[in-house]
Amino acid sequence: MKAIKVYKFGDPQVLQIEDVVTLVPEAGEVVVDVKAAGVNPVDAYIRSGNYPVSVNFPYTPGIDGAGIIKAVGENVKKFAAGDRIYFSGCQSGAYAQEAKCLSSQVFFLPENISFEQGAAVGIPYSTAYRALFTKARAVDQEIIFIHGASGGVGVATLQLAKMANIKIIGSAGSERGLSLVKEQGADHVVNHNQPGYMKEVARILNGQGVDIVVEMLANVNLDADLNIIAKNGRIVVVGCRGEAVIHPRLAMVQDATILGMAVMNASLEERIKIFSSLAEGLKTNKLNPVIGKSFSLPDAALAHEAILAPGAYGKIVLIP
Ligand code: NAP
Repeated sequence: MKAIKVYKFGDPQVLQIEDVVTLVPEAGEVVVDVKAAGVNPVDAYIRSGNYPVSVNFPYTPGIDGAGIIKAVGENVKKFAAGDRIYFSGCQSGAYAQEAKCLSSQVFFLPENISFEQGAAVGIPYSTAYRALFTKARAVDQEIIFIHGASGGVGVATLQLAKMANIKIIGSAGSERGLSLVKEQGADHVVNHNQPGYMKEVARILNGQGVDIVVEMLANVNLDADLNIIAKNGRIVVVGCRGEAVIHPRLAMVQDATILGMAVMNASLEERIKIFSSLAEGLKTNKLNPVIGKSFSLPDAALAHEAILAPGAYGKIVLIP
């Protein structure tokens, strides 16, 4: 079978396709015939060597994917060969024709959700769920600003907020992204690349503050977020690519909270709860991942360039 291998940290060109031996599940594991793999920004951070995780070279990148169960190891009762599934977390790496996962990393994929969409669920929807409900404790009728709503996590946050009856302001940085955010049900959209757009957010809020901000680029936006936060508001830092200067007094006067959130910190128990909470939404298409671009497996380097480029439109996937 074919898999992407990385022998050293570096630019996207270190992603090389190779023939490797077919996988055999150990006890408690399944082997998946991968139909699509999700490309997450963290895959690119790890590949470049700028992320605090240890890897054993050569490694195959990729955390999320979807496909059909090919074989199950001893003690796996929940799944059988032929089952349609998606996974989040992977022992062998998702950028391959086959992937080996713990059975606890695997979830049934409803018929109405394509494999490409299945590969877009794992990190984005669990991140969005954890930001919205575990950290921000969002409730009905609150107002959220999804600061970066056009990408994988942004669209997931939007759909989950919509299901929870939360009022949504979403930002994007391109015309196409703005249309997507509007189509996905945001009540208002703003362009985060337009000078003065936070004044537009304040105008929309009409003197009210925003209860929740889910922030995709905290190093750029955190101080601006503090300027629009409501009393007892919560800002969840999901994405951050550098340092920020903030005025903590803005948080003080509003009794506001800045919450860090890394989805990798979710316990097994928490993950089970999160993924079972997504099941009904996926079955009814209320949660309906948007695929913006797909690349074939040998073009993994192009996918890594695309995931860090501006102009996000839902999710990027690789087809093995
Ligand atoms: P993505 O699909 O590449 O989307 C990136 C998003 O950031 C797009 O909506 C993009 O909008 C937006 N953005 C760009 N410039 C912005 C700005 N100045 N202000 C606000 N938003 C801006 O990536 P993703 O998978 O959605 O992930 C989003 C971020 O969260 C990444 O930094 C990722 O590393 C991080 N993340 C964190 C966790 C966690 O556990 N904390 C989990 C998953 C992802 P345009 O392209 O339209 O400009």
